[in-house]
Amino acid sequence: MDRTTQTKKTQPERLNGVRGMNDVLPADEPLWRRFEDAVAGTMRAYGYSQIRTPIVEHTRLFVRGIGEVTDIVEKEMYSFTDSLNGEDLTLRPENTAGVVRAVIEHSLLYDGPKRLWYAGPMFRHERPQKGRYRQFHQVGAEALGMAGPDADAEVILLCQRLWDELGLEGVRLEINSLGASHERRAHREALIGYFEAHRDALDAEAQRRLHSNPLRILDTKNPAMQALAEQAPRLIDYLGPESLAHFERLQGLLRSQNLPFRINPRLVRGLDYYNLTVFEWVADVGGTALTVCGGGRYDPLVEMLGGKPAPACGFAIGVERVLELMRARGDAAAQPQCDVYVVHQGDETLDSALQAAERLRDAGLDVILHCGGGSFKSQFKRADTSGAQLAVIVGADELARGEASVKWLRSGQAGVAGPQQSVAIDRLAEVVVEAIVANQDNPEDPGQ
Ligand code: ATP
Ligand code: MG
Repeated sequence: MDRTTQTKKTQPERLNGVRGMNDVLPADEPLWRRFEDAVAGTMRAYGYSQIRTPIVEHTRLFVRGIGEVTDIVEKEMYSFTDSLNGEDLTLRPENTAGVVRAVIEHSLLYDGPKRLWYAGPMFRHERPQKGRYRQFHQVGAEALGMAGPDADAEVILLCQRLWDELGLEGVRLEINSLGASHERRAHREALIGYFEAHRDALDAEAQRRLHSNPLRILDTKNPAMQALAEQAPRLIDYLGPESLAHFERLQGLLRSQNLPFRINPRLVRGLDYYNLTVFEWVADVGGTALTVCGGGRYDPLVEMLGGKPAPACGFAIGVERVLELMRARGDAAAQPQCDVYVVHQGDETLDSALQAAERLRDAGLDVILHCGGGSFKSQFKRADTSGAQLAVIVGADELARGEASVKWLRSGQAGVAGPQQSVAIDRLAEVVVEAIVANQDNPEDPGQ
């Protein structure tokens, strides 16, 4: 056919993921799994139970539960109107509000305090950059119904145990106290006075927040405003004896556990219902300080969301940032692993190969059965890249004798005499399990 008359085949458009929302590919999965296992174990060690709340909530939950004058509610929420019933809904930007909503809705505090944890994706419309995404993951804990510094110390120790479990060193604790609302009010007056006196030095965001949420100006990320924020009146100087006693006791408890911390007077949460303890865990990645976890006490929140008043504290960990730390310390993603790869000689051996694979799985082994046929050579190539230790070969001639073969895929491994061994197919699972156990007990250098 003449090239010019040939109709050009149009390729369907290739669709990519949404900016700032990432795929977790299988190669990364072992790292995620390691993190998730450590989280589940650590939560269990402190008596926390997992709660799973929906990703979508009513928008007003977050407006009330996070606060109108916050980065999240002002500009970061994925909100939409349900086209079927006109409800205003939002993809959760964090999980504390959802957990507290569920706790109230199901009266979970009726028989005393609750220790809860959660994990899952959160959504914020931020400018994507390293460690900042539009869909990211948080793991968090909420200790509900406990007012004392013992609960604050507990959630902090829980974090430290998790870092230890993950082998992460150099995750530093910073703490501060936000006191009670009347103390914050007095400090707020002083703060507004101070920033008004330096109005010319304020950036646009600070100008906007001067009267709505001046505490948050202390948290500015604008380098030009750092010095100004540094010199501002400190909330800690406005704390009364009760707040100070709570803060002192927490410090005492942390010291008694040899847990080092730094008091950072500029550490704030800027929402009216955060009170007393606030903390952050900070680590350095490639020379920049990264906050991997933020937490604190939010005693008024349960009542603000319509529940019977109950004190609460907790934290949220940024999972992607912790994984970044794990990668930085060399926790490379591991090779995929399975025990056995079953190769076979095409359709006439398929029933028996399928059967053999099922029996091996019955014996507790992880098995990949080759699908799609092909030469033994090409099947062995697949077996090699599968990460399997052993291949089981189901060939037609052997099968006629009621046998299959077992072959180590890596040289130098013990357990089976010779490179390939014939086994009665009835005893296959038994022999393979024995060989794998023997090899675990007596592994030779696989590099041999
Ligand atoms: P920042 O000041 O960095 O925006 P934040 O105060 O919004 O942080 P929190 O709401 O306290 O953060 O969330 C707890 C943790 O979740 C953060 O310390 C961080 O590790 C992680 N985190 C927050 N936003 C993102 C994001 N967009 N992408 C990845 N991780 C995030
Ligand atoms: Mg933020």
